[in-house]
Amino acid sequence: MNFEEYSGVWVFIEENEGNIAQVSLELLGAGRRLADKRGVDLCGVIIGNGVTLLSETVFEYGADVVYVYDQEIFTHYRTESFMKALLHCSEKYKPEIILYGATSTGKDLASAVATDLPTGLTADTTELDVEEDTGLLLASRPAFGGNIMATILCKKYRPQMATVRPKVMKALSPEPGRTGKLVEETIDVKEEDIRTKVLEIVKSTTKKVRIDEADIVVAGGKGLGNADGFQLIHQLAQALGGAVGASRDVVEAGWVEHPHQVGQTGVTVTPKIYFAIGISGAIQHLVGMKNSGLIIAINKDPDAAIFEASHYGIVGDAFEIVPLLIQEFSKA
Ligand code: FAD
Repeated sequence: MNFEEYSGVWVFIEENEGNIAQVSLELLGAGRRLADKRGVDLCGVIIGNGVTLLSETVFEYGADVVYVYDQEIFTHYRTESFMKALLHCSEKYKPEIILYGATSTGKDLASAVATDLPTGLTADTTELDVEEDTGLLLASRPAFGGNIMATILCKKYRPQMATVRPKVMKALSPEPGRTGKLVEETIDVKEEDIRTKVLEIVKSTTKKVRIDEADIVVAGGKGLGNADGFQLIHQLAQALGGAVGASRDVVEAGWVEHPHQVGQTGVTVTPKIYFAIGISGAIQHLVGMKNSGLIIAINKDPDAAIFEASHYGIVGDAFEIVPLLIQEFSKA
């Protein structure tokens, strides 16, 4: 494989009902940094129906080139059709790196593409870097139960591919009017070539807890004792207008449901303020909240690991401190 034929950092732009997924904008921010370090183009790939105009947003968020496949066959996401488009694009223009959001769509598409290209895929990445001279992608993710960060390399093949967790990379501020090179492509793929048919779209009726979008997250751990004690977390979150987060042990104990879980096997959050109350600070929890703007920990153990990751710490009993906070914040 001649590596010199491969150039450019690509981001698969995920689109849903005419909107670009936030994770794709975050990846354009990360991709810009990698592309600048390498001195190559940052490119977005958009696949869909009626999506060409979205390229304007992709340019404003940092892309130099946007490849668009705008055809009726791409109205709904389907693995086979999207994979054919991405393979077509990749084989024609030969990127050195392709990044996807670690969402249901991104994970599905990236793994499908990886089965067809002679390359691998690093899944669920939380840190990205690139070697300036070789272009080797350094994709890191928690491994061995979150006890270490593993950096995974794809030394022999191109493109190098990774899915990246939402909320761990930062989008750039959009530059209105910024533009670049738009490349419109089509592929000859017929409905009968695609084995999956979309018969109906049924929207979820369950109310989703979006703790990853909250400015304030009040998270509680096993230190709250039981489900009744955990009510203090709900009350403080309510007083602050924030969302409720939890450690995995709390979710496993059934005090609160899984969408509230922060960490390696839960959600990654980056709120402006994160309260960690009665949470020890296991590495698997820290990977999900360590990039929060301001971290405030309350724990009765002065040696708890959570204090290492916090900006402010209160050593004391949650049952004494949290009611005082609720009282004060309820006045505001
Ligand atoms: P504990 O570790 O039991 O800590 C309780 C803390 O409360 C202690 O520090 C204690 O000093 C303090 N405390 C006790 N009483 C009080 C009081 N009255 N007032 C104040 N403080 C008090 N964990 C996650 O959170 N998220 C994940 O996504 C996740 N994924 C994992 C994936 C794998 C593969 C593995 C192996 C583990 C994972 N874990 C995850 C579990 C993780 O290792 C820890 O077990 C878990 O985070 C501990 O939860 P905790 O801090 O609530 O409980």
